[in-house]
Amino acid sequence: MARSAITDQTSPTWTNWVGNQSFTPARAAAPRDEEEVATLVRRAAERGVGVRVAGAGHSFTPVVQTDGLLLDLAALSGVVHTDPVGKRATALAATRIRDFYEPLWQAGLALRNQGDIDTQQIAGAVATGTHGSGTRFTSLSGVVRGARIVTATGDVRDVDGSDLDLLHATQVSVGMLGVVTRLELEVTDAYRLREQVGLRSWDDVMEHWDELVDQHRHFGFFWLPTEESGALYNLDGHGERLADQCYVKVYDEVGPDVADDDTVGRRVDRCYRIFPMVYDPNFHELEYFVALERAPQALQAVRELMLRSLPDAVYPLEVRTVGADRAFLSPQHDTATVVISVSGKPGTDYWAYLRSVDALLADFDARVHWGKLHFMTPERLHALYPRAADFIALRRELDPEGMFLNDHLRPLFA
Ligand SMILES: Cc1cc2nc3c(=O)[nH]c(=O)nc-3n(C[C@H](O)[C@H](O)[C@H](O)COP(=O)(O)OP(=O)(O)OC[C@H]3O[C@@H](n4cnc5c(N)ncnc54)[C@H](O)[C@@H]3O)c2cc1C
Repeated sequence: MARSAITDQTSPTWTNWVGNQSFTPARAAAPRDEEEVATLVRRAAERGVGVRVAGAGHSFTPVVQTDGLLLDLAALSGVVHTDPVGKRATALAATRIRDFYEPLWQAGLALRNQGDIDTQQIAGAVATGTHGSGTRFTSLSGVVRGARIVTATGDVRDVDGSDLDLLHATQVSVGMLGVVTRLELEVTDAYRLREQVGLRSWDDVMEHWDELVDQHRHFGFFWLPTEESGALYNLDGHGERLADQCYVKVYDEVGPDVADDDTVGRRVDRCYRIFPMVYDPNFHELEYFVALERAPQALQAVRELMLRSLPDAVYPLEVRTVGADRAFLSPQHDTATVVISVSGKPGTDYWAYLRSVDALLADFDARVHWGKLHFMTPERLHALYPRAADFIALRRELDPEGMFLNDHLRPLFA
């Protein structure tokens, strides 16, 4: 007889994609459906064992870590419903971003926005507030309209707009409210994009900042402190000088009269073919968010700090914007933000550099990306996230024993 997948097994070491987080959980299991998830959670609760879920492992922080039971939901994958009239799509938790593309396109739909890569599982991406660029759009978390969660008792709870506090807590929950088994997203009509990619000087970008932010569907750039910086993120300057240049990307929607174009830097294609980039696991990233109105001063200060920190600061500074949402733990809670990302080189001691970026951006009341390196403290959490206490109260109500917390999250959210 085949061994049941819901038997939790002793497990090998788990390592994230970039290789800076690894741990060995006591047990691991790969449930085949929601019922098996509920059974495993119930049993873990009876034994007093913690539970965490591994998504695609693309977070840089110890958000997956557990010394209890680690769940792999890979079997719970696929878009299960699309609604072209109501502009909704429902998918199982482990559906990769890229696995939304065809089913949505076939229904005349598309994700409203997405980030730089598309290998994350949707529940993992949503858990940390994964975002793309553009102030007219929220993160993926901001478009979550419903969720199904297996809570600490092993009960299945449907979350939707009838309980807005629970919905807003669920939208960015870093796995702390329970095991998410499915998500309903607000989506949009299928659209095509034209990219315009090119090098511009820092001063030029800063001078045209408002126009770049306001007049394009998506705008972001990488500032390259040195000639070598572009290659670290696979950014091709086509022979032009890169040092101290901005590699600018703007994407705008085009109508059916505009033909597809595969010219690099000027492509026109379905949205989901324009968004994703290719990264190598050669960087450890910190990402902070500053209220949009303070963007130019914050960016100028980070650039100056990076120039002073060379060669530790050799990785590009990535800059994007994201629209406001209501999620309790979202960096965009009630405010549009500029997104500021910097990276350290694996194998080097980059901590002093990252700490200096943290100290500088603390003066700009920066919030953090939960999936990227950060130095959040309980004091800053409560000062910067006005609904943090409400999140913690709901978390305690749903999971009084803290079975979905881990060593990384407990100091902030117990
Ligand atoms: C190369 C690269 C590019 C990136 N680009 C972007 C970007 O453009 N924009 C951006 O915002 N971020 C970006 N990120 C960060 C990334 O999107 C987030 O860290 C995201 O959370 C990773 O998703 P994942 O599926 O790998 O989840 P994991 O990292 O595996 O897990 C993230 C969290 O979700 C929890 N979780 C996963 N599934 C469930 C579930 N079913 N139920 C409950 N909890 C669950 C995990 O326990 C963990 O706490 C990037 C990361 C990398 C490595």
